[in-house]
Amino acid sequence: MPELPEVETTVNGLQPIQSLTIKAFSIFNPNLRWPVDPEISLLLENEIALQIYRRAKYIILKFQSFHLVIHLGMTGKFTFSSPAESRKKHDHIEISFFNFNQVVRYNDPRRFGSVHLVRGKLEEFFLIKNLGVEPLSDEFSGDYLFQKARNRQQAIKAFIMNQSIVVGVGNIYASEALFMTGIPPQKKSKQVSKKLMSNLTDNIKAVLNHAIEKGGSSINDFFNTGGQAGYFQIEHQVYGREGLPCKRCGSFIKKIVIAQRSSFFCRQCQR
Ligand SMILES: [Zn+2]
Repeated sequence: MPELPEVETTVNGLQPIQSLTIKAFSIFNPNLRWPVDPEISLLLENEIALQIYRRAKYIILKFQSFHLVIHLGMTGKFTFSSPAESRKKHDHIEISFFNFNQVVRYNDPRRFGSVHLVRGKLEEFFLIKNLGVEPLSDEFSGDYLFQKARNRQQAIKAFIMNQSIVVGVGNIYASEALFMTGIPPQKKSKQVSKKLMSNLTDNIKAVLNHAIEKGGSSINDFFNTGGQAGYFQIEHQVYGREGLPCKRCGSFIKKIVIAQRSSFFCRQCQR
């Protein structure tokens, strides 16, 4: 499933179409997670994407009087191709431009992705309005997390994966950041000190930035080969390593389930 770093990389990869005028927005199969509104094709003709950016795991294209909000779901990805190249199976949408020799195609085998055109205020759109802060922003700090954790019984791992607190911290990144910080994933949020919350936010930023850098170095593959849209291969310290020796202390990595998600940790390094 594309995580925040893959979405960030996709947004970077789409920058060449910023400021281009859309010739056609063709919907071949509207049956994504929500049906794609056929009106989008008409509305986007001759429009220019003024800005392309990420909010949580949404790709936002800002136009003069509306926003296009795209989610990659489980298997969504964009590719650039020559207009002459025949469409691949699961290419559901194609965007062509004036004065640009390539088209952008949206491919999504499982069709859990989504495309919405938002006419009103973006921050009031139902998919956007309840989102927490961005993990890479200055707003996301130890103080912020510490304040939000007051009176929270919730396990710290579920807490940092709670999208209304902070967006885009997926299971892998949460597990790795907790290991780096030395906090057991099941610890109650309210019991984590301000100092550790501060280290935790730093480590979350570090693992995400590391994965984004990895993504940046593979951006050509990501787009030109049809995108190997799995996780960028960051070297995991704990995630998926149940029963293997901890890379720091040698004791065995444990797996427990927290909020229905597998959670990996080292009992020695995280107490
Ligand atoms: Zn250890």
